[in-house]
Amino acid sequence: MQTELHRHLDVSLRLSTLLELAQERGLESRSTSLERFREKIILSKPLHDLREVLGQFTLFQKVLDRPEVLERAAFEVMEDCWNEGTRKVELRFSPSFVSEYSKLSWENVLAGFERGVARALAKYPGMQAGFLCIASRDFGAEAVAETVDFFLKHQNRFVGVDLAGNEENFPCHLFESSFKRAANAGAKITIHAGEATGPENMWEAIELLGARRIGHGIAAVRDPKLMEYLARHGICLEMCPTSNWLTRAVDSFEAHPLPQVLRAGVPVCINTDDPGVFSVGMPDEIRICREKMGMTPAEIQRCHEHASGASFIATLSSG
Ligand SMILES: [Zn+2]
Repeated sequence: MQTELHRHLDVSLRLSTLLELAQERGLESRSTSLERFREKIILSKPLHDLREVLGQFTLFQKVLDRPEVLERAAFEVMEDCWNEGTRKVELRFSPSFVSEYSKLSWENVLAGFERGVARALAKYPGMQAGFLCIASRDFGAEAVAETVDFFLKHQNRFVGVDLAGNEENFPCHLFESSFKRAANAGAKITIHAGEATGPENMWEAIELLGARRIGHGIAAVRDPKLMEYLARHGICLEMCPTSNWLTRAVDSFEAHPLPQVLRAGVPVCINTDDPGVFSVGMPDEIRICREKMGMTPAEIQRCHEHASGASFIATLSSG
């Protein structure tokens, strides 16, 4: 079953929806065409680094300003996933990121997104979906603790918790106590690590924060001991080819470590990360894996199986 584990709900708005919302709010001229807007928003060549890419997200934060807008965003993302052939999806968002400009309460953010997903599940009953709560590193340790508190309070409405943002300036060890609390409460944890930094941040994600999966983990191939550990413990790497190229985590698609990781027996899966700025869906990512990375259909199928197996969405047993 095609499964996606790493898609940021708060940066996945359809371009046409983003334009409509921006124009309604006077953030974009009424005369801007979709094509002109595409040139402005969609990244098509690598930026300087990950931080510059993160800077592109402000418009998304500004338009996600009411629960009805969040509902629409979540519904459309689910519909896009369905149309891409995805049947199981984990959607992640950062409550503090979403509410930074609107000052919506985090409860309202969660409830808005939930209504959109519920409406989509009613229309596409073959789908499964779950939310990951993102704690944003860039807001500091205290803010991360606050997000983990929010997550723990609503733990039954999320499938897991994540740490994202600028890992160069905010390494994993700064957030150890918050993630220990989450782990002690039985939370399933995935951590963005080894995207803009080396393997040491991945080790910290696993050993200090209790990560069961790693977002990106590009740096894994630089550390044979880590590769062995990931394979032995079944820690799945959520790799995102287009994102990894545009943020310069890899120099080219041909140099992307995904096939190497897979062939070394490390669980790894294919993801879109931020479709709202990268303009990609799962079919695009799969085509890149096939055409630029030389992966076989059987290898791509293995990635889907890894994603499904590593998903935090509970699957009811038939027994
Ligand atoms: Zn991500």
